[in-house]
Amino acid sequence: MKGPAIAQARMGCTDGGIDELVEYCARAALRRSGQHRPPYCPRQLVKALSVSAVVIGAELPERVDEIVSMTAEGPMILYRRELGAIDRRFAIAHAAGHLALGDFGTQAPLRPGLLVPRELRAARDRERRCDRFAAAALVPLDDLAREVAALGGAATGDRETQHQDWLDRLDRLGEVFMVPPNTIRRRIGELSTFHVKQTDSP
Ligand SMILES: [Zn+2]
Repeated sequence: MKGPAIAQARMGCTDGGIDELVEYCARAALRRSGQHRPPYCPRQLVKALSVSAVVIGAELPERVDEIVSMTAEGPMILYRRELGAIDRRFAIAHAAGHLALGDFGTQAPLRPGLLVPRELRAARDRERRCDRFAAAALVPLDDLAREVAALGGAATGDRETQHQDWLDRLDRLGEVFMVPPNTIRRRIGELSTFHVKQTDSP
């Protein structure tokens, strides 16, 4: 996939605009994968980005959920075999982010001590962008806004009742999108900043 937004993303914008570019890339990739309703399949997303990509499970070091590398036959995505289905979906969508943003080679360093702080920071930024891509592809804000509205008004009552109601909502939304609750929580936070901006723009 090539385009001005992706080109800019590859140049590594440092301002807040990079998050919007990542959102844009995720939406474009999702559209290209031909999916229209959640839960979105991250493997289809990968295929839409590279028909030659393979996605396979592997024994990976602890705290490394996925690795993306380029082979002569195309991109190879390894995910950690022990991951549960929900976390595996996120890991594959994160790997799709590496493909979409044109960043195949490097992952969170296996031995951080080998990297100077600047490289370490760059690696962390890259991983953060791919996490953002995964969240945007699996939980598009339009869909989230619709599902949140479908849940109706929040419970009233004491603090504990409201808190339990909030947790129930996160669970239900997590079931719709098949993502971890913390991803839903983060996307709800982003709903106000990005979605409003998108729908307000002419
Ligand atoms: Zn990564």
